[in-house]
Amino acid sequence: MEYKLSFKEYHKALMKNKLMGLKCKECGTVTCPPQMSCSSCTGFDLDVTELSGKGKITTYTTVYVAAEGRESEAPYIIVLVELEEGPWIMGNLYDLDPSRASLDLIGRPVQMGTRIFPGDKYSDGPAARPAFRFAD
Ligand SMILES: [Zn+2]
Repeated sequence: MEYKLSFKEYHKALMKNKLMGLKCKECGTVTCPPQMSCSSCTGFDLDVTELSGKGKITTYTTVYVAAEGRESEAPYIIVLVELEEGPWIMGNLYDLDPSRASLDLIGRPVQMGTRIFPGDKYSDGPAARPAFRFAD
């Protein structure tokens, strides 16, 4: 079985500020990040599709104790976003002072961009991750 969209290809697109997913030809569900099969019906007949990066915050957390090597970034906000196309993805939120994060964030529209993080001893060089900004 071959991946329609490998993580390597997904990451390469993310480095160029593009969010790629997979659209199921059976049920229309969009899966992101990429998986072997549809996240809804487990079908394998998938098309690669570019997503808008637009969505709404469903929940968030503020990180005060960062992972090793990322201590200088703390505190920071991580949001879980429901994209317009359906998938839920996580990323940093940069438009708000972390000390001001509150439940008011839930439901706020956001637009995804990309932030490149430097490599550390656990990774294979620089890595792109979703980074959100308010869209309202
Ligand atoms: Zn499906």
